[in-house]
Amino acid sequence: MPIGSLRGVGVLLLSAVGGFPVADAVPASEGYLFNDSHFHLTNYVQQGTPVADYLAIMGDKVGRSTLFGIPLQQTWSYENSGDFAPTYYLQTDAPLYYYSFTDAFIAMAYRSLPPAQQARLDPMITGFNPADMYAVDHIRRVLETFPGVFTGIGEFSIHKEFVSSKVAGNTATLTDPALDRILEFAAESGLVVILHCDIDMPFAKQGQEPVYLAQMKELLRRHPRSTIIWAHTGLGRIVHPPNSQADGGAGTTNPNHRAILAAMLDDPTLGHVYYDISWDEVAKYAVSSPEIERATAELFNRHPDRFLFGTDNVAPRDQATQLRVFHLWDRIFAQLTPEASLAIRRGNYERLFDAGRARVRAWEREHVK
Ligand SMILES: [Zn+2]
Repeated sequence: MPIGSLRGVGVLLLSAVGGFPVADAVPASEGYLFNDSHFHLTNYVQQGTPVADYLAIMGDKVGRSTLFGIPLQQTWSYENSGDFAPTYYLQTDAPLYYYSFTDAFIAMAYRSLPPAQQARLDPMITGFNPADMYAVDHIRRVLETFPGVFTGIGEFSIHKEFVSSKVAGNTATLTDPALDRILEFAAESGLVVILHCDIDMPFAKQGQEPVYLAQMKELLRRHPRSTIIWAHTGLGRIVHPPNSQADGGAGTTNPNHRAILAAMLDDPTLGHVYYDISWDEVAKYAVSSPEIERATAELFNRHPDRFLFGTDNVAPRDQATQLRVFHLWDRIFAQLTPEASLAIRRGNYERLFDAGRARVRAWEREHVK
């Protein structure tokens, strides 16, 4: 998740490694630039963009968008930071806690809109603790309380750099049966899942398999009937792609991140898994050299139906902010076939979230009295 008030850091990193957006990566005649598969309306202290303002920001550039808050609330601990009120998890040592009211807030924001604007949004349930066997009951209760609103669950996090260790209570894990219950219910109800789980520990040693990869694959294989989007392809601010320095070249034995993804994409037991390329912190890796840009474009061209663009913006103030992350990818989009570009920017979103919507509405007709 990008960092709101610290957003400039990403820009600096990027300009250090890459060049400037390519203006004509997307023909102007094509309509909306993208659908946003990963968007936070509110931040870590539940403040954000008024939803009507967000529709104006989408304007004629963003066709459709997911809509979620952030399930974790940053405590303002006076003992810790005194009069300084932290709004981001990196700004204080005080704990984070699950803030379930976010789901009611998102539902009411959605309901405040006229139907034509609602049709452009896919609200998501996030306010549950994935280490709690009761989490699934919360999700079901949200559907029962706000029928006709939600399309999916997430982004929720299992392992996340800096964040996991700050969450009050038990740490979430990929082997927790509470998580299996959540994903089973997603299969039953049709809820689309956006799951954040770092592929590796921060600053991992090169030459070793990413520490969470095997558990992640096992989890995904246990839930073949759920539609699961792996947020950021498992990367983070300091969770680097394996061998990002050497880029998996001659002399390295460890497969690089693209090779790991390629193997997962070819694996028929993981055919229900999709990958979002959201977050400026992820874009910085993909555009770090012309060779990596080319190889990334090749991977997208080979598997155009499996990647989704998203911004991972948090409570943007204006349209320029909303579009900035998209344009980080311009040089890569310019190397895609027209079909692959359209699929990753818009088509895959429409296919997955339309199917989710229809299935969740059907579940609600059957189960909500
Ligand atoms: Zn996010």
